[in-house]
Formats: sequence, C-alpha cells, structure tokens
Amino acid sequence: MSIAENVAQIKENIAAAALRAGRDSAEIKLVAATKMNDAQRVREAIAAGVDICGENRVQELTEKLAQGAYEGCPLHFIGHLQKNKVKNIVGRVELIHSVDSVPLAAEINKKAAALGIVQDVLLEVNIGAEEAKSGFSPDELDAALAEIADFSAVRVLGLMAIPPICADSEQNRPYFRSMKQLFVDIGRKKYDNVTMQILSMGMSADYEVAIEEGASLVRVGTGIFGARNYAL
Ligand SMILES: *Cc1c(COP(=O)(O)O)cnc(C)c1O
Repeated sequence: MSIAENVAQIKENIAAAALRAGRDSAEIKLVAATKMNDAQRVREAIAAGVDICGENRVQELTEKLAQGAYEGCPLHFIGHLQKNKVKNIVGRVELIHSVDSVPLAAEINKKAAALGIVQDVLLEVNIGAEEAKSGFSPDELDAALAEIADFSAVRVLGLMAIPPICADSEQNRPYFRSMKQLFVDIGRKKYDNVTMQILSMGMSADYEVAIEEGASLVRVGTGIFGARNYAL
C-alpha cells in the first residue's frame, strides 16, 4: 500500500472510531510520526492529508526542516527532549508533546522568553508506571503544574502518554481511560498558563481504542509509512 492509501484508510478508521464514541471526528487530528522517513516521504504524507508532522529526534528535525520537508504542515516534537537540545526546538515547533520534568519546562521557558514567544507544550505522563519510560507519574502532576504555572513563556495545553507495548490494543484501554480522567480532573483546576485542550495518545496499534477513550491527537508512524528499518 502507498502512503496515500494508508493515510486514507487511517482517516476512515479515525472517523469510524469517532462515530462509535459519539464524537465529532473534526476534533481528532492525525499526527504523522515521521522518524526515519526522509523529506520526500514526509511530503507524500502531507500531500495525502495528514494534519500534523511529529518528529522524534532533534537532529532529524533540523535536517528535514532545512530541506523544507514540512512545508504546508504544522510541526510538533514528540520524542524525548534533552535540556541541552531545547534551543534547537523552541520556536521551531507548534507543540512539544514530551515535557517530562519541571527542569525541562524551566529550560523551555528560558529559551522561549529569550525569543519573546510562548511555547505550547503537553506534559508526558508515564501512565503504565514503566521504569524505562520517562514522564510524570499521575500523582506528581499537581505539584509539577503548580510550578510550571509560574513559567510565563510556557503554556500547557494538555497531556501525552505512551502506554506499554502490548499484543492486543484492548489491553491499553484502561490506560487511555485513566489518561482521560486525569485530563478532565486537571481541567477543573485553576493553574495559570494551563488548560486541558489536547490529549495526545494512541499509535499505529491502538489509535482507534485511544480515540474511543478521548484522544484528540493520535501519533501514527508504521501505519502510514510501513515498518521502519532500524538497520539503516
Ligand atoms: C514512533 C512514535 C510513534 C508512532 O509509532 P508507530 O507504532 O510506528 O505508529 C508515536 N509516538 C511516538 C512518541 C513515537 O516515537
């Protein structure tokens, strides 16, 4: 299947999942997870109608940006971000999905303030409590938000999660449901510079379940581009 055929099929699946959940599919956006796909393939995905490009690695983003790969499409950063690379990302992307610590948020705030901009971000939640994964644990979120609320050049628009890898997408439904609950609970509280508008969850294997449970951004790589070749 071509990239265009894959994107068309995924958009159909998104619409069907939204319908099952009684949601308006217009409130769900498809983020193409473009890692390890070159500028030409990224352009193909954009032409096929993905809503957003999501890049994982700072160096790859920098290279493809210079090649004009993302023209006509909003760009997000979805990968793990190290503090020393923040300067290469702030102001270049509409949204950073993966803020996983208060010091990282502080660094983003510093760089954004220096540029005279406000950087939109999501907080990453380690919803499966996995040791190898980054992200806030649910019970750390309130304290983190209280600190981040003081960062006037950072605006928190929602939450992101990568639940455990599993064989059956249904196994992740409880994690997606917990994320939605956190999202709703936090949305009822009042923090400066924090609103809950975006819930980023669901990948190739489980985006339909994520949508049924309330995802507003789904991040799909393999489903659009095919398997990545890590041997290259
Ligand atoms: C690679 C990646 C995805 C997409 O994964 P697929 O299983 O290929 O759809 C989504 N989110 C993040 C953060 C990723 O790194």
